[in-house]
Amino acid sequence: MQLPYAESHKIKMVETIKKSTKEERLDWIKEANYNLFNLRSERVFIDLLTDSGTGAMSDKQWAAMMTGDESYAGASSYYNLKNAIKNILGFDYFLPTHQGRAAENVLFSVMVKDGDLVPGNSHFDTTKGHIEFRKATAVDCTCDEAFDTELEYDFKGNIDPVKLETVLAEYPKEKIPMIILTVTCNSSGGQPVSMQNIKEVSALAKKYDIPLIFDSARFAENAYFIKIREEGYADKSVKEIVREMYTYADGMTMSSKKDAIVNMGGFIALKSEELYKQASIYNIMFEGYLTYGGMSGRDMNALAQGLDEGTEFDYLESRIGQVAYLGKQLVEAGVPVLRPFGGHAIFVDAKKFLPNLPKEEYIAQTLAVELYIEGGVRGVEIGTILADRDPNTRENRYPELELLRLAIPRRVYTNNHMDYIAASLINVFERRNEITKGFSIKSEAPILRHFTVELERV
Ligand SMILES: *Cc1c(COP(=O)(O)O)cnc(C)c1O
Repeated sequence: MQLPYAESHKIKMVETIKKSTKEERLDWIKEANYNLFNLRSERVFIDLLTDSGTGAMSDKQWAAMMTGDESYAGASSYYNLKNAIKNILGFDYFLPTHQGRAAENVLFSVMVKDGDLVPGNSHFDTTKGHIEFRKATAVDCTCDEAFDTELEYDFKGNIDPVKLETVLAEYPKEKIPMIILTVTCNSSGGQPVSMQNIKEVSALAKKYDIPLIFDSARFAENAYFIKIREEGYADKSVKEIVREMYTYADGMTMSSKKDAIVNMGGFIALKSEELYKQASIYNIMFEGYLTYGGMSGRDMNALAQGLDEGTEFDYLESRIGQVAYLGKQLVEAGVPVLRPFGGHAIFVDAKKFLPNLPKEEYIAQTLAVELYIEGGVRGVEIGTILADRDPNTRENRYPELELLRLAIPRRVYTNNHMDYIAASLINVFERRNEITKGFSIKSEAPILRHFTVELERV
């Protein structure tokens, strides 16, 4: 018998989580204006809102925290992190920031200006926010396969090179400050980008002389998928694949709260000294001095260790295997989920789950609320609310996909929790025909509205 995968860790410390009743949850979600971000975490039994900053650090990471150097300048923790970034990712220059969006803010302050176009693959919401805030436009060049939720296609995060070249050829180089490649592609369902595609995008970037920046939050999961799915990579280690991926990038922004398994932190890494110097000015203004940016010494130490652990095959196999374990149960029950399963999350196709609901009533949000009421499980809407309004017309943007994302925190829950989540969602699925009304918006912010939007039942 072939031995199955098993977690590459055992548990040394636990945290109690509390169940609640359906009646309690009906009150609590109403009080939260039907926005799951407004719920207090103790009112959630299993929290799948995000895999960002919610992972469990290892004993080695906690030990590294104790040896953190809190010197303002030249801290050893800075050099630990610098070495880890050089060894694992291959970059000579880096700037610590407090999280991924801060890295975007600093780098885009140098590179992106009014009227620019930034092509990429389904830009993440904060990335798009930072582009649009500068009155530039994010141009989505994701491959068409990504929009067919049932299609088994290995690399749905890929950029369509034809779409990309159309943009590059149509506009002058001065208008395109960078191409952003998101690995894995969060907004299209945690889907990976193949090495082949990375090479093609890099060749186009070189042809048109435009910097290629990787939005790297889940770079290690991307490398794992390349190893498992792409011809020629089965015998390479995840770390070797990671190094190869970054030979094609001019720079990267990183949310360390994902694949680096820390609770807070981010960075920019660059090949160009000149760009590093320009970005340094903004890093000092917005984040902090060059050798700590937005991070304390102990956090930089834990991050250095996390980059190493997060790029180990055994860890990635059990992490991504657990996501698939949940996905398989849902598929077997007939629940429509995005295929193939994402690296960090299962995405439920809400339009297929609730076909009787009009798109104006926020289909995926309605499903997220129902799942919470059913089992105290908190997922998140990746749909019309997240897609926000068109900055010019102020009309709702209706994305092709309305998804409920169930993001699995790293090294936090057991497969019993996965069973519980599956049962909760299957219960909602069985009463889906009774769900005929959604929500309308009571109030919303002008940008990134999903965090604070207030809703009421139609
Ligand atoms: C999380 C994330 C970001 C933003 O990072 P934060 O740490 O949340 O600020 C940017 N891009 C992608 C792809 C992400 O997943």
